[in-house]
Amino acid sequence: MHGFYNTLLRIDVHRKKFEVDPISDALLKRTLGGKGLATHLLLQHNPPRVDPLSPANHLVLVTGPVTGTAIWGSCRHGVFAKSPQTGYYAESYAGGTMAEYMARSGYDAVMIQGASDEPVWIEICEAGTFFHNARDLWGLDTFETEDRVKSWIKENRSEAEKCGVVSIGPAGENQVHFAVIENDYWRSAGRTGVGAVMGSKKIKSIAFWGNKRKELADADVVKGFVKELAQRAKNDAGVKAYKSMGTPMLVDIANHLGTFPTRYWQKGQAEHAENINATALHERLQVTPNACLRCFIACGRMGIVEKGRHAGLKIEGPEYETIYAFGGLCEVDSIEEIAYLNDICDRLGLDTMTAGNLVALTVEASRQGKIDEQIDYGQVDKMAQLLGDIAYRRGIGDILAQGIKTVAREWDMEDQAIHVKGMEPAGYDPRVLKGMGLAYGTSDRGACHLRATFYKPEISGIIDPEVIEGKAKVFAEWEDRLTIFDALILCRFYRDLYQWAELATIIHGITGLNLDLEGMRSIARDITNNTRRFNLREGLTPEEDRLPKRFHTDVLPETGKVITEEQMERLLSEYYKVRGWDKKGRPEPEVR
Ligand code: SF4
Repeated sequence: MHGFYNTLLRIDVHRKKFEVDPISDALLKRTLGGKGLATHLLLQHNPPRVDPLSPANHLVLVTGPVTGTAIWGSCRHGVFAKSPQTGYYAESYAGGTMAEYMARSGYDAVMIQGASDEPVWIEICEAGTFFHNARDLWGLDTFETEDRVKSWIKENRSEAEKCGVVSIGPAGENQVHFAVIENDYWRSAGRTGVGAVMGSKKIKSIAFWGNKRKELADADVVKGFVKELAQRAKNDAGVKAYKSMGTPMLVDIANHLGTFPTRYWQKGQAEHAENINATALHERLQVTPNACLRCFIACGRMGIVEKGRHAGLKIEGPEYETIYAFGGLCEVDSIEEIAYLNDICDRLGLDTMTAGNLVALTVEASRQGKIDEQIDYGQVDKMAQLLGDIAYRRGIGDILAQGIKTVAREWDMEDQAIHVKGMEPAGYDPRVLKGMGLAYGTSDRGACHLRATFYKPEISGIIDPEVIEGKAKVFAEWEDRLTIFDALILCRFYRDLYQWAELATIIHGITGLNLDLEGMRSIARDITNNTRRFNLREGLTPEEDRLPKRFHTDVLPETGKVITEEQMERLLSEYYKVRGWDKKGRPEPEVR
C-alpha cells in the first residue's frame, strides 16, 4: 500500500533475534497506521494483565504514512506499550528529526519484547538489526547517550549520512514510572512512562538510519498541497503566534482566564505570571525559534540563559506545560529557574509534567507534616535535589518514582492527589474549562490534554467552557479528527490548518485511499474503541473515568468555579452515548 513499507520489525531483545513480518494492506486500510496499527499490535500481542515492567510487555515504536514525506508537521514518531504509570494504555509522541530516520530504515513499526540480561543499544537499518553492548552507556544522561551513539554511527557506518536516536536516562534505567524516551536532546515521548518500559528491557538507546523512500500514491497532489498550504499559512494568526511566542504564550492566556493551575491546584492564577511568561522567556533568554523537520511553524524556543547562576544554559524550552508544572504548581517564580529544572528532567529522562506535579504534592506533604523532609513552594534547589532522588530512587524519591497513586496511598493523601488513572492533568484547570474535565476523564492514557486538545476551542471562545449540554458531541468530533492526526502521526499545532478536507487530501495523496468524512470518522471511532477495549481488558472500571473530588469541592478562589459532580456525570453519560458505549463505558466487542 502506498505510504507504507508493509513491514513490521519484531525484536526479541532477550534472545537478540529479529524477524520481519509483513503487514497486510487490509490492516493498514482499517487502521491508517500509526496509533491505529500500534493499538492493534498491542491488543494482539500483549498478554492481558501483563506486568508493564515485565519482559512480556511489548514496546512498540511507529511512524505514520506521512512520516518521511514532505507533508508539514509529519516528522513525529509514536511509542506505545502498557503503561507502568497508569497500568493502562500508553502512548506518547515526539517531534524533532528522529522519525525521518526511522522512516528511512524501512519499517512502519518496530515491536520489542523480552528483556536483555545486559544493557544493550540497538541499531536498526536496511541491512538488519544489530545489538551492541551498552555497558559503557549505562548510567549516562540522555544527552551524553545520544552524543555517544551518534558518534559511533558516524565513525563506523560510512553509508549513514545521519541517524535518529532515542535514549533513556538514569530515570528510565531505574524504571521510574514516568520516565521518558528522549530524542534530539529536548524532544520527549514524555508521558505514561514508556522510558521505564525501555529500561526494564535494558535497552539504553535505539538508532535508526537508512535510505529507503516510500512510494506515494500521487506525488503531484502532495507537492501541490504542501506548496499551497505554506502559502496560505503565511498570514495565519495562529502560525504567527506560535512562531513568535511558542507555547509559553499560553501562560498569560490561561492565567487571565483563571485556569492556570497554581500552588498544587489550589489557585487558578499565579501572581508571579509576568516572571514566567513568554515575555520573560524572550527577555531573559536569548531565544531563536526552532522547528522539527518538515515544519514552518517553528514553535520550539531554542534558548540560552543570559545572566545569573544558570548563564550559558542551553535548552529548547521550557514549553508551557513545564512552566505550568514548575512555575504554577510549585510556584517557582523565575523563568531561568524553570529552565534549570527542565534541563535536569531532560537529562535524567523524567516527564516534566508529572515531575512538577509530584514535587508540588511533596511540598504539600511536607507542609502538612506527612513526611519528615522539609521542602516548600519556590525552593528550587530542594526541588532539583528531589528530581535526582526520584531518578536514582533515593529516600522518598523511591516512593515518588512509583507514581502518584502509590505516593497518595503511602502518605495518606488520596483525597488531595490530583490525577486520573494515575496520570496528572496538564495546565488547564477543568473547573474553568469544563470540556477539559471530560478530556481528563475519558482519555485512554489518563488526564491527558492532547487527545482532543479541547482547551483550544474553550480558551479561544469557539465553545463556551461553561456549557455542558451537547458538549460531548462536539468533543467527540475534535477527538476523532485528532485521532486521525495520531494515525497519520501529525503535529497537533497543524490542527487549525488540517481540517477534515485537508486530512482527506493528505490521505489520498499519500496512500491513495479516498476517504470521506464518515470514512475517516469510522476509522477514528474504531481506534478509540480499541484503546478502550485494551484498557477494559487491563481492568479499567468506569469509576476511573471520574475526576479527583477536589475539582468538585474546592472552589477556585479567583473565579469561584468548580465542575460539579452532576456536570461531570452528564458529560460522561453523553460521551458514552455518542461513542455508542453502554452505561458502563463499554464498546461492543470488535467484529471482524
Ligand atoms: S509546530 Fe512545533 S512541535 Fe509541531 S512540528 Fe513544528 S516545531 Fe515541531
